[in-house]
Amino acid sequence: MRYVHYCEPCDARSPERATDHEAKADRAAHRRRAHHGLRPTDRIEEIPGPVAIAVSAAWTIFGHAVRSGARRLATSEAVRQVRASAYWQQAVRLLAISAGVLVLGTVAVHKML
Ligand SMILES: [Zn+2]
Repeated sequence: MRYVHYCEPCDARSPERATDHEAKADRAAHRRRAHHGLRPTDRIEEIPGPVAIAVSAAWTIFGHAVRSGARRLATSEAVRQVRASAYWQQAVRLLAISAGVLVLGTVAVHKML
């Protein structure tokens, strides 16, 4: 999870921070510097990381599967989004490479014996 401070009047956005505490420090510094210590309409937002996105997508898929069944799942928007994501494509590539390495290893060992 990443944290970002947004200031609406300034339309300003702090860099993404690893902790809520760092984002609050950004907010305090911005309030001092740009608003003379006053409190503008601002907020700290949580930005989900790749794991949180994957878990959220998995929950969406699970909930969708429970409600509508596996047949409709194959055409669902959630599955389409997961398949279109870079993480999914990378996982498929790694799986294909791993399978290729396994096949080559098996063939090499078989030839040696
Ligand atoms: Zn501001």
